[in-house]
Amino acid sequence: MAMRASAGSPKQRDPNKIANGDNTAQGKWGRAWEVDWFSLASVIFLLVFAPLIVYYFIMSCDQYGCSLTAPVVEMVTGKSSLSDIWAHTPGVTARAAQIYVTWVTFQVVLYMMIPDFCHKFLPGYVGGVQEGAVTPAGMVNKYEINGLQAWLITHLLWFANAHLFHWFSPTIIFDNWIPLLWCANILGYTVSTFALIKGYLFPTNAKDCKFTGNFFYNYMMGVEFNPRIGKWFDFKLFFNGRPGIVAWTLINLSFAAKQQERFGSVTNAMILVNVLQALYVVDFFWNETWYLKTIDICHDHFGWYLGWGDCVWLPYLYTLQGLYLVYHPVQLSTPHALAVLLLGLAGYCVFREANHQKDLFRKTDGNCQIWGRKPKYIECSYVSADGRRHRSKLMVSGFWGLARHLNYTGDLMGSLAYCLACGFSHLLPYFYVIYMSLLLVHRCLRDEDRCSRKYGRDWERYTTAVPKRLLPGLF
Ligand code: NDP
Repeated sequence: MAMRASAGSPKQRDPNKIANGDNTAQGKWGRAWEVDWFSLASVIFLLVFAPLIVYYFIMSCDQYGCSLTAPVVEMVTGKSSLSDIWAHTPGVTARAAQIYVTWVTFQVVLYMMIPDFCHKFLPGYVGGVQEGAVTPAGMVNKYEINGLQAWLITHLLWFANAHLFHWFSPTIIFDNWIPLLWCANILGYTVSTFALIKGYLFPTNAKDCKFTGNFFYNYMMGVEFNPRIGKWFDFKLFFNGRPGIVAWTLINLSFAAKQQERFGSVTNAMILVNVLQALYVVDFFWNETWYLKTIDICHDHFGWYLGWGDCVWLPYLYTLQGLYLVYHPVQLSTPHALAVLLLGLAGYCVFREANHQKDLFRKTDGNCQIWGRKPKYIECSYVSADGRRHRSKLMVSGFWGLARHLNYTGDLMGSLAYCLACGFSHLLPYFYVIYMSLLLVHRCLRDEDRCSRKYGRDWERYTTAVPKRLLPGLF
């Protein structure tokens, strides 16, 4: 779950060759080999503007009470200038650097040094050493799945500190929010640059690298598919999940602590945002093994878009509702709070159940029950880079028979719920649902483009059987 703002739909070499039934095409699915001008323009736009967008949002809360228009209005009317705004922006501090280095090091230690023990006592949880999907080069990587454990240990320590040890204030994250932004940027750019150099000079698996001949595109979308250091430090798994997603719930807790400190109590809106987002985060870690089969791990290469996105975009922009509520402590009426809770839970159920159905279907090769019946499916085949032909199945039952991406629809319902918890007086907390809508619609189109190249005519059979993407009967 990273920044996930990817460039347009780049050209693939000779797409017709991948059509089902053509054995000469090998491994052309996956990310682009050649870049058209639109993709390149989008990449350059994002490289330049994405860090500014994050800064603008955080700065507008810090200096303008979360008004997105006030900074522009003040500059246009001459009341303030860019240099005034910059002068009021805290710089990087030794304290923030110390916090950030400790934080990332701690997450690396949890990831690398403590093999998973949760799967030994939590019924139904799948952790420990697990296999990922087949890569375009035909490899199957092994992963140490211990994200839930890392999340639990981190949060136990957080609560132990808040209630017993008092080593630091629970408002520490909010109090250093902008200085930490600079630290997160430094890590994001460092890791993306390292990944690019590594892709050229010492890739983990050269056959799974892609070079477009365009520096900016390679930098942003990544060269290596699964960069690793040693046998187990997997860049994608680490940066996708930790430090960003483990931090997400801590950041929200810190915002709640700040609201308590400022106003003497925590509002029901802040509690709703904390609870609904925590549900999403815990779900992510509970299903980390399943996540190995999602687009981020299965299809995206590791570049700036994942590296920087996971370090900066996700922790700073996915937490805007909590930040907003520190400045505007919204107390919702009971019907409003209940409506938000119901929408959030309904969205979560659709999201989880749709993902679960696909996972179960794929794991059992269709030998399972979906909504009380044996699922229907379309048989497909595709060719990997080593020339081997593989077989696959696309389910047309359950949620996957109603629309092709109801898991995204559920995600969007949950996203809307977080935003609605913040009331209606500002646009800023609605950024999340606007962004997620663009992201998931784009992702839907991108995934379908990839699937159609991968499965050829079989994909057409699937889209005929299930004609809508996100909303049954509508879109
Ligand atoms: P999906 O889990 O929907 O996976 C898409 C893949 O599933 C396709 O490429 C295809 O892969 C396979 N597939 C498609 N249709 C079928 C079918 N009918 N039957 C069986 N397999 C099928 O996409 P994502 O990985 O993007 O998303 C996973 C979850 O993560 C979603 O719920 C999404 O909402 C969430 N998400 C959250 C984000 C965030 O930032 N909060 C960002 C992105 C995603 P194959 O090649 O194997 O056939």
